[in-house]
Amino acid sequence: MKITLFTTLTAIALTLISTSTFAQQHKIIHAGSVLLGAEQQLKTAQTLLITDDKIAAIKAGYVSQDAFGLSDAQVIDLKNQFVLPGLIDMHVHVTFERDASVNRHRWTTEYEADQALRSIKYLERTLAAGFTSVRDLGSDHQVIFPLKRAIERNDIAGPRIFAAGNTVSPTGGHADLHGYRADISAGVGASLGICNGADDCRRAVREVIKSGADVIKITATGGVLSNTAAGVNQQLSDEELHAIVDTAHNLGRKVAAHAHGTQGIKAALRAGVDSIEHGSYLDKETIRLFNNSGAYLVPTLLAGATVSEEASSNPNMPIAIVNKVREVAPKMQASFQLALQNNVNIAFGTDSGVSRHGLNANEFTLLVSNGMSEAQAIKSATVHAAKLLGQEARLGDLSVGKQADIISVAMSPLQNIDALKDVQFVMKAGQVYQ
Ligand SMILES: [Zn+2]
Repeated sequence: MKITLFTTLTAIALTLISTSTFAQQHKIIHAGSVLLGAEQQLKTAQTLLITDDKIAAIKAGYVSQDAFGLSDAQVIDLKNQFVLPGLIDMHVHVTFERDASVNRHRWTTEYEADQALRSIKYLERTLAAGFTSVRDLGSDHQVIFPLKRAIERNDIAGPRIFAAGNTVSPTGGHADLHGYRADISAGVGASLGICNGADDCRRAVREVIKSGADVIKITATGGVLSNTAAGVNQQLSDEELHAIVDTAHNLGRKVAAHAHGTQGIKAALRAGVDSIEHGSYLDKETIRLFNNSGAYLVPTLLAGATVSEEASSNPNMPIAIVNKVREVAPKMQASFQLALQNNVNIAFGTDSGVSRHGLNANEFTLLVSNGMSEAQAIKSATVHAAKLLGQEARLGDLSVGKQADIISVAMSPLQNIDALKDVQFVMKAGQVYQ
C-alpha cells in the first residue's frame, strides 16, 4: 500500500517536473533605457531574457533570440521606452475607495462579496498604473485574502498582494467602528483585531495571522478619517505595543504602525515597529529613534493632499473628520522633509483607497516637490519597498534571478518624475498585462 502510494506520488512529481521543463516560456525585452540592479544604474540598449516568471539573463546591446539559442521566444520591442522595475506601493486599501457621492452607510446593505467584486476594478487599475506589488494595510480578512488568492491563481488581474487583513486596534480606536448606536455596533460585532490589554493584543495578533496576515497593521494613534473627535494621540499603551511587536516578530511578521501624533510615534518606535505610516508629527527625538532602529517612514503625502481637498469641497464630511484634516494634513509634508534631510529610511506609500486607485503615481510628484530626487523617489517604490517587505531577494530591482516585474514609460522619469503617471508596458512575474 505504502509503496503504491509512493510510486504514484513519484510518478506525479516526475510528470510535473518534465511538464515544466518542456513548457518553459521565453520572452526577450529590448530596452532603450533601463535601470539595472539594486543600485539602479542607468544603461542604454540592453536585452533582458525572461524565462517563465524570472529574469534569466541581462546582456548589453540588442541580442537576438538565436544568440540565446532560442527559436520560440516572444520578442518585446521597448527600444523607444524607459524600462524600470515594477513599482511597489507599501500602503493601499484595495477593498475600498472613498467617494463623497456615495452614502457612507452603504456597507450596512452589503456582503463581503460586494466589496470583493467592486475591488476587482481597483486592482486592475493599480496594476495598469505599473504597481506590480502592493501592501494592503487594512481590509477585512474575508475580502482581501480571497482577492490575493484569486490573483495568485490568475483568475483576476492585479498586483501581487501582501496583506495585513484586519487592523489591530483598541476598542474605540481608529480601526474600530464609530458613529453608530451602541446596539447597532454590538450587532455588527467587533473586528478580529480589536483588543484591550497586552494579553488580549497578543491574542488579536495571533488571530489576525491565523486568518492569513503577511504583516501586522496597528493603529498606534488616532486617525484622521475615523468619525470620532478622539484626536491623533497615542491609542495603544506601551505595554500593548510591546506585546504586539514581540508576538508578530516571533511569528515572522513585520509590524506597520499607523501613527500621527509624536508621542504615539515614539512609543511605537521604542516598541520596535518596522514602519511608521503617515508620521505626521515628527521631531528631533523621533528622527533619532528612526535612525537608531532603522525603521521606515511611509509618508502617504497623497492621502493628506486628497483629504484636504475633500474637506473643502464635501459638505457631508463629518465635522470630527474635517477638524482633524485641517489640523494634520499641513504637518505631513514638513515632517517628510525633516525625515528626508536626516536620512530616515523612506518607502513609498499612498494610502490609495483614500485617493482613487490607479492614481498611485501622484505620490511621486509630491515626494519630488518636497525635496526628494527623482532617483530616490523611484528607489523608495522599488528597492526600498522590497526591503521593507522582506522580499529584496525576489523583488525590487532588475537583476538575474529576480521576479520579472517590469514596466516602461515613454520618457525618462529621472528627468521628469511625472513620466511615471503614464505607464505603457506592464509585466508581472513574466506575464504581460499591458
Ligand atoms: Zn491607510
